[in-house]
Amino acid sequence: MTVATEATLFDKLTSLAKRRGFVFPSSEIYGGAGATWDFGPIGVELKNNVKRAWWRTMVQERDDMVGLDAAILMHPRVWEASGHVENFTDPLVECASCKHRFRADELPEGATGACPNCGERRLGEPRRFNLMFKTFVGPVEDEASIAWLRPETAQGIYVNFENVVQATRRRLPFGIAQIGKAFRNEITPSNFIFRSREFEQMEMQYFCRPADAPRHYDEWMETRRQWFHDLAGHDDLFRLREHAADERAHYAARAFDIEYRYPFGWKELEGIHNRTDYDLRRHAEYSGRKLEYFDDVTNERFVPYVVETSVGADRATFAFLCAAYDEEPDREGVRVVLRLHRDLAPYKVAVLPLSKRPELSQLARSVWARLRPHFMSTYDETQAIGRRYRRQDEIGTPLCVTIDFDSLNDRAVTIRDRDDMTQVRVAIEELVPALRERVGRA
Ligand code: ATP
Repeated sequence: MTVATEATLFDKLTSLAKRRGFVFPSSEIYGGAGATWDFGPIGVELKNNVKRAWWRTMVQERDDMVGLDAAILMHPRVWEASGHVENFTDPLVECASCKHRFRADELPEGATGACPNCGERRLGEPRRFNLMFKTFVGPVEDEASIAWLRPETAQGIYVNFENVVQATRRRLPFGIAQIGKAFRNEITPSNFIFRSREFEQMEMQYFCRPADAPRHYDEWMETRRQWFHDLAGHDDLFRLREHAADERAHYAARAFDIEYRYPFGWKELEGIHNRTDYDLRRHAEYSGRKLEYFDDVTNERFVPYVVETSVGADRATFAFLCAAYDEEPDREGVRVVLRLHRDLAPYKVAVLPLSKRPELSQLARSVWARLRPHFMSTYDETQAIGRRYRRQDEIGTPLCVTIDFDSLNDRAVTIRDRDDMTQVRVAIEELVPALRERVGRA
C-alpha cells in the first residue's frame, strides 16, 4: 500500500474533489468569488456526516450538553463587548510596486524584507485590518444600522446563557454546542477549503465553576483528541500544541490547538481555550444584565468560567479527506481508495447491476428502492463493473451491492467491501440487516 506523497496529495485531492463533486469553487462560471467554496453532491453528504458525528458525540451522547442555533446577524454591541471590533485584526502590508497584500506575520522575511510576489523591497508599514465583514441592516446605510457577519459562533452562545439556564434548568457544569456559518475577511485565504472567507464552525462552550476549569480543560482536550482518533485513525497525523503566552487570544488563559499534518504542513484544526469569565463579564458590562449563576445548594452567586472547543467543519472535512486518501497498485495501475470512516462516507452503499439488461436493471432498481429508506445510497449501471467499483472506492463508498444474472433465479446479491475487496453472497430478503451489520448506523 502506498500513500501519496505529501506534495502530490494536495493536487490529487483537490482534483478529485472537483472531478467527483466534493467541492467546487464558488461562482466558478464568473471566475470564482474569492476564497469561497461550494460543497457538491458528494461533498455535502460528507460534510453533513462530519457535523452529524460531532453533534452525536458532543450533544446526543452526553448528559451535560444542549444545542443551540443562533442567528448570524447580532446586535452590533455584541462585537464591541466581545472585543472583536477592537481586536479582531491582522497586520496588513501592501507592496508599493506590485500592490499585492500580505499578512505581515506570514511574510518570510518580515515586513521590512522583500515582497514574496515581485521581490522588490517596497513593503509598506503594517496596518491593522479588521477581519469582520460589515453590512447594514434596514434600508439606510449609516452608522446606526451597521451590523457584522459573525466571525465566530461562540458569541451567540454567551448572549443566550441566561435564556438557556432558565429554559432548561441546567446546573453547572454544562455545555452549549452550536454549528453554524462564520465569516472572516481573510487577507490571504489559501489552501483550498483550509482558509476561506465563509466557513462553518462547530463550537462548544462549557460553563463551570472557576476552580474546576483546569480539570474540565484537560478532559475536553482528551475528548476532542479521541474524536479525531475514532474517526480518522492515523494518530501520527494529529498533535496537540500549546500556545505561548504572546500567541494566545485576548480572552484565553490557556490555549491548545489540535493540529493536523495537512499536505502543506502542521496547521490548526481545532482550538481549545480556557476563556475564563471574560465573555460573560463583558456582556454583563455592555448589556447591563447580570450574567451570573446562582447555586441554590450552596447559596453562591458567581460568573462561570468557560472552556471552549472550536473546530472548523470545513477544515475537519479536509483533514478527514487527507487522512482517508490511499492508493494501491492493482491490475489496471493504481486503485484510489478513500478509506473514510463508515459514519463519514457520503454513500454507505452503491447498487450496481452487472449489465444494463432490462431484467437486471429492474431487479437492481427494486433492490435500491428497498435500501433507500435505510441507507444513503447510490445507483450506477454505466461502464464495466470493475470501473464502477473503482468509482465508488474513489468516493469512499464502503459497500457495493452487485446484482448479476444468478440474482434473477436465486434472489441473492453480492456485497463487496471497499477496504479488502472481499465479496459475500446474501439473500435479498436479508440484505438490509446484512448491510446494517457492516456499516453500523446509517
Ligand atoms: P488561524 O490561526 O488558522 O487563522 P484561528 O486561530 O483564527 O485560526 P479560531 O479563531 O480559533 O481560529 O477559530 C476556530 C476554528 O475555526 C479554527 O481552528 C479553524 O478550524 C476554523 N477556522 C478559523 N478561520 C477559518 C477560515 N478562515 N477558514 C476555515 N476555517 C477557519
